[in-house]
Amino acid sequence: MRVLRRDFQVTTFVAMCLSVLAIPAPAGAAPLLPTPADWPLGGGPVVQRGFTPPAVVWGSGHRGVDLVAKSGEAVLSAASGTVAFAGSIAGKPVVSIDHGSVRTTYEPVITTLRVGERVALGQVIGVLGAGGHCLGCLHWGLREGKSYLDPLLLLGGRGGRLRLVPESQREVVEREARARALAAASATQSKAIMTAAGRPGSHGFLHPVAGAVSSAFGMRLHPLLKIQKLHDGTDFAAACGTAIRAPYAGVVTRTFFNSAYGNRLFLSHGSVDGVRVETAFNHAARYLVRPGQRVSRGQVIGVVGSTGLSTGCHLHLMVWLNGRLSNPMSWL
Ligand SMILES: [Zn+2]
Ligand SMILES: [Zn+2]
Repeated sequence: MRVLRRDFQVTTFVAMCLSVLAIPAPAGAAPLLPTPADWPLGGGPVVQRGFTPPAVVWGSGHRGVDLVAKSGEAVLSAASGTVAFAGSIAGKPVVSIDHGSVRTTYEPVITTLRVGERVALGQVIGVLGAGGHCLGCLHWGLREGKSYLDPLLLLGGRGGRLRLVPESQREVVEREARARALAAASATQSKAIMTAAGRPGSHGFLHPVAGAVSSAFGMRLHPLLKIQKLHDGTDFAAACGTAIRAPYAGVVTRTFFNSAYGNRLFLSHGSVDGVRVETAFNHAARYLVRPGQRVSRGQVIGVVGSTGLSTGCHLHLMVWLNGRLSNPMSWL
């Protein structure tokens, strides 16, 4: 619950800019997979940028397709297979899945899957995160050995109508999206004190997101209700889609939606340094862990959103010490 305006309505913007044109499915393209495949997003995905292989192996091009997607949106496995990679490449979260002779890649995607895990066609493999070369989109790739292929070939002619942003408009769409992201980032930096994520405090608790503290715990004028009210947690500014990490090992006790706090998740950390500690995460786009699940320190438990009574993407962190609501920063 804070004032910062962070409007990443890229999807809406892209949708407005779309000039819809139907292109035929690749004629007679033989399906590459012995198993069925499908789009990695629900609904009718929109191709923001198509596959343009480089003329030479080391040349520049676009080695996949970009599908319009919202931060926090569920990303699905395009076919059954085995997780070949789940981690960070040059700061962006990437998932790769092997399907026999071919491999599909998805980025930026935050996942809790591990290498070697089996996934089914249409299974949720994670959610769209932040980072990557396009904003508000999923970069979907396909490789056979070292060669990059057009992932739309996987659909084997079942692609139906594809909606493409014409090349002439794509640059405008991307420039606009970049400008918005930059403006939002500089607004954050000028308003807030930057904090390092992942640096454990005296009790070994991490900051749950790599973001600035944008509003501290304590009495303040509520930005939406315009009344003096206890701000019952610490706000961390972070773009929608940023990973939320467990600050400390614990067990998920409950997750639910509240009209003010949005999507909430509670972690019980048991007794730490003689103090019973509980934390709560609010306004997330979604959570990736379930009640009863044990989480380790630093594990990705959800993604930043702006659900509930919120004016922009951020995480509202709450801490209870021996059952008493406390200033999170007194403990972190
Ligand atoms: Zn707050
Ligand atoms: Zn791409």
